[in-house]
Amino acid sequence: MTSKDRLALYQDPSVQLLLSKFVRGEIVELVPSFDLNQTVRYPEVEEVVEGDSGAAKKLVEKLWDVGIFKRKFHEKILVCPSCLSVNVSNDYVCPNCNSIDIERKTLLEHTACGNIDSVDNFLVEGGLLCPKCNKELLEAGVDYQKLGAWFQCSQCGKRSDMPSPIHRCRTCGHIFTIRDTGFVNIYAYRLGSEAEEEFKRSYLVMKPIGVVLEDFQFKVEMPGQIAGRSGALHRFDAVATKGSSELVVLDVIASEKQIDEVPVASMYAKIFDVTPTQSILVAMPGLTEKAKRLAGLYRISTIEAENSQQAADRIKDKFGWAGLSGNEESLGDLQL
Ligand SMILES: [Zn+2]
Ligand SMILES: [Zn+2]
Ligand SMILES: [Zn+2]
Repeated sequence: MTSKDRLALYQDPSVQLLLSKFVRGEIVELVPSFDLNQTVRYPEVEEVVEGDSGAAKKLVEKLWDVGIFKRKFHEKILVCPSCLSVNVSNDYVCPNCNSIDIERKTLLEHTACGNIDSVDNFLVEGGLLCPKCNKELLEAGVDYQKLGAWFQCSQCGKRSDMPSPIHRCRTCGHIFTIRDTGFVNIYAYRLGSEAEEEFKRSYLVMKPIGVVLEDFQFKVEMPGQIAGRSGALHRFDAVATKGSSELVVLDVIASEKQIDEVPVASMYAKIFDVTPTQSILVAMPGLTEKAKRLAGLYRISTIEAENSQQAADRIKDKFGWAGLSGNEESLGDLQL
């Protein structure tokens, strides 16, 4: 359940597809749909894993496990304790012989003569007739009252007020009661707000930038880690390598207002140890004059942009001609 697990999942194309739908508001909540054969299905997730319902369920659980999804109790499903099938019937049986072959009998009272008998004995073609006084019973509640019901077993003939409830598994035939029933909770899922921010940052924001770096024939990791000369590991929003000689590191910082020199200084602390061939700081929307001067001093190339697509375009424009490989000449040009 570490952030590393989550970051690895954000790199998975199926996860990217699914989470992007949440971010765009196309999915708000994954509502489970009950399925007799598979217990539960998540149709929106199946779409991103080529219709594989088993893989969809596994993915949902994984995303919950690492804290990307939040879940809410949706339904409790009864399962066969023997084979775990959810295809289970609810039956009522004779408490005497356990036969399912029982019938419900209703007791009627004829108001006029007071005769009480089973409804069967009143039934005639087209209506009800009192077997004692032969008068027709027309209006319920006036001519006659329903006094209640009982159940009669067609096998052993015993009557009872209340037959016994049992469950029967339609898959393996196992018969069981509430005492041995298995229960499975099923959940609805949402994208957690922290995970949403993390995903936007690690994938949506970085994606256009990553595409540009790949266009320059770099192998890109987003985020990426590199060991410095000190042996310490440093994390950058993107680490791009070409062979063993070229190493470009890139950090992205976004804010509501102009960004000051603090992120410039902290990037410098990392590149001082890592010594990449090129360091790029993307600032959205931009940097203060002081921050820009400091970046120049530290040989950090800065890109100011309104959004990540614009940042990607500007990286392409700025580095397109010379490429990203930082020789002294191009570095001089880049630092403006
Ligand atoms: Zn079963
Ligand atoms: Zn019986
Ligand atoms: Zn009567």
